[in-house]
Amino acid sequence: TPLSRIRNFSIVAHIDHGKSTLADRLIQLTGTVAERDMKEQMLDAMDIERERGITIKANTVRIDYPAKDGHTYVLNLIDTPGHVDFGYEVSRSMQAVEGSLLVVDATQGVEAQTLANVYTAIEADHEIVPVLNKVDLPAAEPDRVREQIEDVIGIDASEACLISAKTGVGIPDVLEAIVNRLPPPPEGDPDKPLKAMLVDSKYDQYLGVICIVRIIDGTLKKGDRIRMMKTGGTYDVDDVGVYRPAMTHVKSLGAGEIGYLNASIKQVRDTRVGDTITHEKRPCETPLPGFKPSVPVVFCGLFPVDANDFEDMRDAIEKLALNDASFTYEMETSAALGFGFRCGFLGLLHLEVIRDRLEREYDIELITTAPSVIYHLFRKDGERVDLHNPADMPDMTYVSHIEEPRIKATVMVPDEYLGDVLKLCQERRGIQLDLTYVGGRAMTVYDLPLNEVVFDFYDRLKSVTKGYASFDYEMIGYREDNLVKMSILVNDEPVDALAMMVHRDRAEMRGRAMCEKLKELIPRHMFKIPIQAAIGGKVIARETLSAMRKDVTAKCYGGDATRKKKLLEKQKAGKKKMRQFGKVEIPQEAFISALKMD
Ligand code: GDP
Ligand code: MG
Repeated sequence: TPLSRIRNFSIVAHIDHGKSTLADRLIQLTGTVAERDMKEQMLDAMDIERERGITIKANTVRIDYPAKDGHTYVLNLIDTPGHVDFGYEVSRSMQAVEGSLLVVDATQGVEAQTLANVYTAIEADHEIVPVLNKVDLPAAEPDRVREQIEDVIGIDASEACLISAKTGVGIPDVLEAIVNRLPPPPEGDPDKPLKAMLVDSKYDQYLGVICIVRIIDGTLKKGDRIRMMKTGGTYDVDDVGVYRPAMTHVKSLGAGEIGYLNASIKQVRDTRVGDTITHEKRPCETPLPGFKPSVPVVFCGLFPVDANDFEDMRDAIEKLALNDASFTYEMETSAALGFGFRCGFLGLLHLEVIRDRLEREYDIELITTAPSVIYHLFRKDGERVDLHNPADMPDMTYVSHIEEPRIKATVMVPDEYLGDVLKLCQERRGIQLDLTYVGGRAMTVYDLPLNEVVFDFYDRLKSVTKGYASFDYEMIGYREDNLVKMSILVNDEPVDALAMMVHRDRAEMRGRAMCEKLKELIPRHMFKIPIQAAIGGKVIARETLSAMRKDVTAKCYGGDATRKKKLLEKQKAGKKKMRQFGKVEIPQEAFISALKMD
């Protein structure tokens, strides 16, 4: 295909604005998939993606489109992830295409992730076609949203396509706009040495690792011996092809094209997204500018509820990690929870996805400990230590100061909820950087400590704004603050899995809240149990769980036989979800519920 007949593009949108539905319609209208094979959300492959309606990995599809000008064009769509945790994946897949459709829900308007994603597209020098979706809904306000796009994003929206991805209205206009308003790939020379970008890689249980590639110069075909310029790995290409969206073999991929390659690569970890692929025999001179590797920012402990599941869990985690290079793990032992793993994630959604997969695909019941961030500990002797787990915090006498990661968070919300949002951000030690109004919505930008956000910030934000707020963030670096480790003691023994880093000014409040919560969550025992929060040796909050009264037990074992049996069964079931700690049994849910602040 000549370059002038190729269009490579992505769709950027806030979550739920209709990106996947639009992709479905484009695929359907061009007959890429036979009608009977069409199912909703063609591009969202993983179960979890489908269930939650989010895209986690970039996907690609090739569409042949006979345009009104009489020529048939090859349209390559890369569907990028749409969630804050995967912002980095969005930015790298954007580098592989020249244009973007900016989808905005005409009933909602511009949201935080609309902004974050469109800025990434602008940074990648994309031509952008605004598309207003959901015009079938009575609440659609295309004029207002058009104006908002111009005011907030600063791009011309006068020729935005008005569509309903659901009913199909306006889809032909979108196809014409792709051809007429998005640029073809820039010069690429099919005779030059191969230069291709590794856009993404994923694991297929039958085929092994599949790489999505964008060819810049040269030609890639079956039988070629390729070299990954950054990792140095060399492989023989078994197959090249395109997604339609089913994998379809092609003879070769040429300059400007996007497709897949399969080269018996064993694990995703062997590939580095952003790497340059070239021929071993006739390599290109300079690799593409590299991408930054994605680094985990949120850490938590994962422990099997049943200690006998530990080996199975190790197998499962190893398998998952092989194919998710942004997920890290190492073994951890906790006095309270036994053997488990300290795992690192890109963000909270990523954490949830991995935990879900472990529980669902591998059938392992897990205890998750409080998510934490990486603190920079500066020792008095000048050495810096990265603290991934509050339980490893050394004695404060060795520590000169502690730095914590900060984020720049953008929240967009209807005016009437702004007060609640500001209050929430203030409570979480936020510093306001900006506040602007656009068409009945406020946009506020805060500098916030990441540790105040990783736990339940997003849930709280949703609840105080009845779901109307949208949120996006980026890391901005580390800053010193007055941080301390708070220990929790149950029956006078510290429970390591409940230890956390807190700001000194908020320690009493957090400590009190934790003790109260734990008092509710831990069942009564035959003896009274003190529950305390402490910093160093100093107790800052305490509660006492009183002893169970004798007659309660008497009642338990009284009554008729069936009732007794039921009670015993209930107790047994309850036991499974308990962890014995010293003389005290702590229910599994306590490890996560105790940290929720309401
Ligand atoms: P994504 O998160 O951007 O991929 O959004 P989806 O494509 O998954 O769409 C989110 C929700 O909006 C789904 O329930 C869709 O059925 C619905 N939706 C998408 N497009 C339209 C539309 O044009 N009209 C209406 N009424 N609903 C739509
Ligand atoms: Mg989607």
